[in-house]
Amino acid sequence: VLTSFPRKTKEYNIWLVFTKVTNVSTLSYKFRDLIHNLLNVSSVPLKFNIIVDKVSQGIAENQIADVLYGNKTIVYSFYDIEESAKKIQDIVEVMTPHFSSKPGTYYSDALFYISLGLYRIAPQNQDFAILLDCDLYFKKDIALLFNQFSNFKPSALFGLAPELTPVYRHILHMYKAKHNTTFGDFYHDSNILSKSIHPRGFQGYNSGVVLINLRAQRNSTEFLEIISNSTVQRMTAKYRFRGHLGDQDFYTLVGNEYPHLIQTINCKFNRQLCTWWRDHGYSNIFENYFKCNGDIVVLHGNCNTRIPK
Ligand code: UDP
Ligand code: MN
Repeated sequence: VLTSFPRKTKEYNIWLVFTKVTNVSTLSYKFRDLIHNLLNVSSVPLKFNIIVDKVSQGIAENQIADVLYGNKTIVYSFYDIEESAKKIQDIVEVMTPHFSSKPGTYYSDALFYISLGLYRIAPQNQDFAILLDCDLYFKKDIALLFNQFSNFKPSALFGLAPELTPVYRHILHMYKAKHNTTFGDFYHDSNILSKSIHPRGFQGYNSGVVLINLRAQRNSTEFLEIISNSTVQRMTAKYRFRGHLGDQDFYTLVGNEYPHLIQTINCKFNRQLCTWWRDHGYSNIFENYFKCNGDIVVLHGNCNTRIPK
């Protein structure tokens, strides 16, 4: 049973992960800037849901106080990362061997898979959520992003924008050498392999902005199968896939194997700025992946890239 947005709900739930922070870390300033930015740019009443550890919560409270002045108000709740990690432990155990760079303690891993198990962490009455990285800057109203839920195909559980680097071409190198596939290719109008699921190329997904239909996910029996060890084993073996980017590696595989579960949203909702791959063997094709035409809504300063404001 799918609920359409925003017809039946007027809640605008934002989720942020803010953990392992120290007072001097850049993450604390990114967090403050994003809260400030969202309060200024939003035409709808936002509810902030922030996943923290004890130390990070104190820093978050100070940063929030810092951006509240005049008659500005903010609605927020904190969720403990250790409790949250326990609720998604099974998912993290399945994913980390394939998608974490150096599998470590359970809670440092869990933070990169929160989006997959958020439906267990969020209050049961939350039907829709948007999980955001802290290194984002909204140039336009975040209501535009919430409106994307209305464009979801009925089967979609998640909404994601494309990854804008050749990282998945790189990871799929072995598979692509032996198979005629558009998986890992950049998106292009003349790149048509008609039998393919993504005939014009599929760059994979970036998880800096994740739209989640929590209600649909809770009601989905298929989803439990998708996150099972056997499905993840099958997909990673098929593509000889070894990643290091957490949940977005999983979404990228799902986008190729079970495309009905993910709604692709426009790159303007997650315009990544990291150019690391341009200087690491892909200068000739990097621009094809990186280009994003249109009126940008969200800038993403990933790999610590400074955001031009
Ligand atoms: N994060 C965190 N603590 C950390 C590292 C990351 O809470 O020590 C969270 C934070 O919300 C951050 C997100 O995880 O925005 C993803 O990390 P980041 O944006 O740095 O990754 P990138 O986009 O550069 O791949
Ligand atoms: Mn990021």
